[in-house]
Amino acid sequence: MGVEFLDIIDLDDARRIMADLFRKLYSGGSETVNIDDALGRVLAEDVKSPIDLPPFDRASRDGYAVVASDTFGASDEKPVRLRCIETVEAGSLPSGRVESGSCTRISTGAPVPEGADAVVMVEYTEVSGEDVYIHRPAYPSQHIAAAGSDIEAGSVLVGGGRVLSPDKIAALSAAGVTSVKVVSRPSAHVISTGNELTEPSGRLEPAKIFDSNSLGISAALRDAGCSVSRGGIIRDDYDELRSALIEGLGKADLVITSGGTSAGAGDVLADVLEDLGEVVIHGISMKPGKPTIVGVVDGKMVVGLPGFPVAALLVFRSIVEPFLRELSGIKAPEGSVKTLKLAERFHSSRGRVQYALVRVDGQYARPIFRDSGAIAALAGADGYIEVPKNVEILNEGEEVEVVLFENR
Ligand code: AMP
Ligand code: MG
Repeated sequence: MGVEFLDIIDLDDARRIMADLFRKLYSGGSETVNIDDALGRVLAEDVKSPIDLPPFDRASRDGYAVVASDTFGASDEKPVRLRCIETVEAGSLPSGRVESGSCTRISTGAPVPEGADAVVMVEYTEVSGEDVYIHRPAYPSQHIAAAGSDIEAGSVLVGGGRVLSPDKIAALSAAGVTSVKVVSRPSAHVISTGNELTEPSGRLEPAKIFDSNSLGISAALRDAGCSVSRGGIIRDDYDELRSALIEGLGKADLVITSGGTSAGAGDVLADVLEDLGEVVIHGISMKPGKPTIVGVVDGKMVVGLPGFPVAALLVFRSIVEPFLRELSGIKAPEGSVKTLKLAERFHSSRGRVQYALVRVDGQYARPIFRDSGAIAALAGADGYIEVPKNVEILNEGEEVEVVLFENR
């Protein structure tokens, strides 16, 4: 078995074809989630505040609520004497009105009594029995947060498209918002193929290796705002792969496999896809990553990544991740691309786009010269560079754009 590669297509064409295809096939939508489960989700629409914030005129300092004009001209030498009529704590209502000549003791966060239009900080006062000496003048509205001054009921509190980070969750909670409409996550089903593969939790038998793509690609999918289910390890067997694909297609918007995409004996993915549906791409002009397959079955997309862990990850990051982020609303973190100087001369293959893992060393990017099966390269890399297809040599010191794996 194993079909020959179809026409190998340009990376840019592959990007465009896959993005257009997934946009067309994916139905998207939104769902309502509890605010407690909303961390990292993307708001599907503007959320307006249902209430004024603060909900009432509120003291923003501990002190005395006064009629501001009573205090004009007050100083240490000539303090103004006022009658204190009550104490208002945060969470309780004042009972009396503050008239000229009187005041109430008030705590931060407590409602300002009627009649008062300013708060004098406790530091500028002095108690004398039932009376209080005010040592500083207050201007009207001083240390009072007026109802609706923070945000008015009906105005937009958090805009649609925003990612719900802890600060936004706090802001929504302050307005009493307990559930929000968020952008649905594209769902992806991840399958690893290969007779040599063993679950990382299992025992490593002779001639076997641990499956690194299942967890690596699942993590990359979650990073891009997708929900993930896993189909585990499937042997290089036509029927097994066929059933695993059908199962995945039944529960997810997208199925991502790795391994078995070349034209070798055990490489059955292309055959299965041909029989179940259609192979759209088989072979992309990039290095690593050439044996990548894209198919459509029952109106859903299947992406077959190459088995080599470096290749699988780079194809995912450079082609698949951008359209998934666009649809999930989770943008790549700011600063994830950095312009650095190449630490060493780099030879690239002419005619196809080449990727190289790099280590970041201050302002320098140092290419890691290993083949795409090298796990140590993945473990030590800080990011990667993409060398255009018409470039054969990048000289030492030349500026390169490094896509960072982690920039938090
Ligand atoms: P393939 O694409 O199936 O020809 O595999 C290419 C290389 O990647 C082989 O050395 C495989 O053993 C290795 N490989 C394939 N799948 C995985 C995987 N899920 N995890 C780690 N290595 C893999
Ligand atoms: Mg294989």
